[in-house]
Amino acid sequence: VILEFEHKDSTFAFDSSRGINLSIPVTFSDSVTAFGAQAASKITYEVGSFVGSVNRGGSCNCDVVSYIPHCNGTHTECVGHLLKSPVYVSDVLKNALFLARLVTVDCNDSMAIDQKKIAETILMDGVQALIIRTLPNSNNKLSAHYDDQAPYLTPDAIQWMNEKKIQHIVVDFPSLDPMWDAGNLSAHRAFWNLTEKQNEPNAQTLMNKTATELAYIPQHVEDGHYILNLQTFDFMLDAVPSKPVIYPISKGDK
Ligand SMILES: [Zn+2]
Repeated sequence: VILEFEHKDSTFAFDSSRGINLSIPVTFSDSVTAFGAQAASKITYEVGSFVGSVNRGGSCNCDVVSYIPHCNGTHTECVGHLLKSPVYVSDVLKNALFLARLVTVDCNDSMAIDQKKIAETILMDGVQALIIRTLPNSNNKLSAHYDDQAPYLTPDAIQWMNEKKIQHIVVDFPSLDPMWDAGNLSAHRAFWNLTEKQNEPNAQTLMNKTATELAYIPQHVEDGHYILNLQTFDFMLDAVPSKPVIYPISKGDK
């Protein structure tokens, strides 16, 4: 289906059959992990005489899953990650379609993504989401075990995003912050406009923003503007498994 939309007095279109999945599949064997966590696992659900495995004579398959959203795959988190009182992704993410910009940044020499590395990104008026692909890039990211170093954002890069009114960020690394940062979470805090150690929201908190971590952007996908469909799981949690799908956009006929 070709879907047309109006944006800032122009008509654009995207083809719903051309979605590009940016999530990492959870394989329960060798998919990505972060912070030294165990991989996601599953076991057959068994209760009474029921065995949730057709292979073992059960009437159907049914698994029990162990999964850590922050460590076991592509996930979307909200400000609830840093607060005492619960805020869930489902509370703050009310839309699923956003105008997005994909940008590639080089992390060969330094894992830090500072303002200099991204501030020249040209953004269409009204861009809501920024997707960051880091170099080097390969499908090793699907099964990486991050427990030491990974790319991260500096607070001044986040400041630039805040000035540009970016509401949602999608990155292909495990955390906006350095992996081991003594719990400072400076980039996370800057993103939601929380001060150091603030653990209750106030009027300045940017409540409705989300960060999606551990995505994977295949190398053949070109930098540019897309429609982002941010699909999230309805667990009442600060972070939930997610599947960002992007659609190339073109100028419409009208
Ligand atoms: Zn996370």
